[in-house]
Amino acid sequence: MNVANFPEKIKDYLIPKPEGKLVFRCLNCQSVYNTEKLFYTCPKCGEVLLIYDENFSRLKKIPSALWRDIFDYRKMLNINSLKGIYRYYEFIGSALPLDSIIYLGEGHTPAIEANSYMQNLSGMRFFFKNDGQNPSASFKDRGMASAFSYINFLIKKGKFKNILAICASTGDTSAAAALYASYIGDVVKSAVLLPYKKVTPQQLLQPLGSGAKVFEIPGLFDDCMKIVENLSKNYNVALLNSKNAWRILGQESYAYEIAQEFEYNLKDKVILIPIGNAGNITAIMNGFIKFYEARIIDNLPKIIGVQSEHADPVYRYYSEADPAKRKFIPLKAKASVAQAAMIGNPVSMPRVIHLETLYNKLAGKQKVFFVQTTEQEIIDWQLIANQNGHIACTHGGETLAGLVKAKKEKIVNETETAIIDSTAHALKFSNFTDKYFQNNFEKEFEITPKPELCNAPIFVKPDNDKLIPSDTKELSENQFEQFVNKISDKIAANLKLEKNVRN
Ligand SMILES: *Cc1c(COP(=O)(O)O)cnc(C)c1O
Ligand SMILES: [Zn+2]
Repeated sequence: MNVANFPEKIKDYLIPKPEGKLVFRCLNCQSVYNTEKLFYTCPKCGEVLLIYDENFSRLKKIPSALWRDIFDYRKMLNINSLKGIYRYYEFIGSALPLDSIIYLGEGHTPAIEANSYMQNLSGMRFFFKNDGQNPSASFKDRGMASAFSYINFLIKKGKFKNILAICASTGDTSAAAALYASYIGDVVKSAVLLPYKKVTPQQLLQPLGSGAKVFEIPGLFDDCMKIVENLSKNYNVALLNSKNAWRILGQESYAYEIAQEFEYNLKDKVILIPIGNAGNITAIMNGFIKFYEARIIDNLPKIIGVQSEHADPVYRYYSEADPAKRKFIPLKAKASVAQAAMIGNPVSMPRVIHLETLYNKLAGKQKVFFVQTTEQEIIDWQLIANQNGHIACTHGGETLAGLVKAKKEKIVNETETAIIDSTAHALKFSNFTDKYFQNNFEKEFEITPKPELCNAPIFVKPDNDKLIPSDTKELSENQFEQFVNKISDKIAANLKLEKNVRN
């Protein structure tokens, strides 16, 4: 809809202005740095940063009903920069001019309600929010849209002539970074570091296809992360991992979308998120906190972080009930079908600790929980979801398995509604589905296929080899008719089809 046609009360608010004052703040020593430069960690103490808007209090002056109207009316705008995550501009990027914003179609992924079969099976009403329907097929695009819009802003301001964007990745970060970098063009080159043989073939081809330099490193993600940290310390590069607080800012949009999709009523809602490097759960907690502080939502939803028992350092940390006794111990991740979360030393752990405390304090009771699942549960639940209309990837399976676990542990009950994150598209991880169907998982996955969940193609040919066409042999008209009939008969027999009475 054309801006001129919107109601008067909303017109002044439709197109946002850069009125925020964004700063990096250290979660440890509280030092504040302006965002004119790229910082990843605090120059004073080395801790991770988050971006805060020092003018945030201005947002609290707008009544909550007006905020809701602003976001709802913005849905109708045909302005590209405001079509994606920046519908919530004031909360995630209020220092960027709109002409710096990069929009590749990210955000506003659908929340799909599970059918009654799935709801009975899980014992809960729930929705899959399909973040695999982002441009590079994972939620990482949300954070990249933010980080690259900011880089684009710095380029436009003449602060940079050439940028090398670099990241370590379990597969999806690199796909997203390479995609957004390629859009900006020659000024930005991208390089990605992947753990050798620890990303799927699709994920390896994504950054290659976007024209990025791809380095395969013997080791795990945590090792690649140490190398890019080293590179970003010693060389002039832009680090695109979620250590970069701009990534977190963009990923907050996931929380804002849930608020908007559920009419800003988050009472009795439960959000489930798989945890790897812990950037996403950081962003989602922070997003809900900001909407809560601006009174756009009246309730903070329950948050449940899910980890596989093969990569569960966050779960282990919180399994100690007494906060004073908790101790974070990094571990070596083992083989996981939730491969994008196969991380033993999550970079955002200090952010999680900070925000989990704040979240529960604001809510007045415990609202953040952590559960653990087995590899078997992860893939079984993924396949069940896939067989019931969902494009859930293994991580979607992990969050669904996490919901079932949370129900069992009485963290949630059937009066609540869950929104579970399918963080990527099933197609990215179809090699794990293949391993399941072919029963050839390596032992370390600890997965035994259940026959009732398996599927395989059936090759059908006529018994008479003379009736098989090939590249070099064409069948006669009569032979071809026999070919069609024989195969039809076999398929009909297999499917136990009944003969049409007219014949
Ligand atoms: C990156 C990723 C995760 C883990 O998210 P973190 O922010 O690292 O915790 C989970 N699922 C998919 C598909 C991912 O790409
Ligand atoms: Zn510091």
